[in-house]
Amino acid sequence: MATVLVTGGAGYIGSHACKALAQAGYTPVTFDNLSTGWQDAVRFGPFEQGDLLDRACIDEVLARHRPDAIMHFAAFSQVGESMQNPGKYWRNNVWGSQNLIEAAVDAGCMDFVFSSTCATYGDQDNVVLDENSEQHPMNSYGASKRAIEDILKDFGAAYGLNHVIFRYFNVAGADPDAEVGEFHHPETHLIPLMLDAIDGKRDALTIFGTDYDTPDGTCIRDYVHVCDLVDAHVLGLKWLEGGKGSKVFNLGTGSGFSVREVVNHSAAVTNQKVPIVEGDRRPGDCTRLVSGSTRAETELGWQPKRSDLPTMIADAWRWHRLGHYEK
Ligand code: UDP
Repeated sequence: MATVLVTGGAGYIGSHACKALAQAGYTPVTFDNLSTGWQDAVRFGPFEQGDLLDRACIDEVLARHRPDAIMHFAAFSQVGESMQNPGKYWRNNVWGSQNLIEAAVDAGCMDFVFSSTCATYGDQDNVVLDENSEQHPMNSYGASKRAIEDILKDFGAAYGLNHVIFRYFNVAGADPDAEVGEFHHPETHLIPLMLDAIDGKRDALTIFGTDYDTPDGTCIRDYVHVCDLVDAHVLGLKWLEGGKGSKVFNLGTGSGFSVREVVNHSAAVTNQKVPIVEGDRRPGDCTRLVSGSTRAETELGWQPKRSDLPTMIADAWRWHRLGHYEK
């Protein structure tokens, strides 16, 4: 049975990836420093607590588990925080990833799946965002991810490190069995914050900016279900196993929804009012991020199954009411 080292396996997307890998017959070994992840979320394979800034620790874990591939999710991922504390993003995301990539090459683990982001594209009016679009990140989070993409490209050219890069649009929803789900502390993402506002855990959802150049004045995003997203990662792994070489894939549905539309869908799914407050724009936010590519569908055979907004919100709501983690 093939072993996959999953960095960030105790986090939101990484824990869903571990479940998908286990279901596909792989052994997912979680490598996580628990800075934002939860030990309770590690349910589908072994756990190694460690930090990507500690190269010796990575080497030791790679030597012990001898993984066939790496899926790299571990990163700080908050746009707003990255604008206030860019050093944290460059140090952890970029330097930590370089450590991991160098360790992978030295260990001869040459299949690498990387979690990148549509934030690497930045704001590009009227441009269809496909994998060949220019990348002009507007925040340090996106810039850090683009830098890691560059490292992978260089290590691919120099050492033959095979890599699949996934540029995610907005990930939402939760495992329909509610075994794992989204639980950030503090929470900054739209849908979980809205669910908190709906059930009174916070007073209201603040809409960040109502004066954008969009039909209702709020930002537009392309939401993709976390289970569909991690299914694509398993397909990406098989792509690398099949010797098909390095490739970049957008992961989005191609449909954009404004913040107000997400609010309205959430009210309908939960059958409750969403308390909202209209606030200022959040620094670093792009007006519109929607995928314009079907490459993942045509080349990987990816078929999103749960990425319609009502299903994503219903799955998130189920997890919100049933699931929780303890450190
Ligand atoms: N958003 C909002 N209020 C919040 C959190 C987010 O209006 O409390 C908006 C945010 O400005 C963006 C969208 O919701 O337009 C998605 O933000 P999120 O932080 O979930 O993901 P991001 O797009 O930053 O990756």
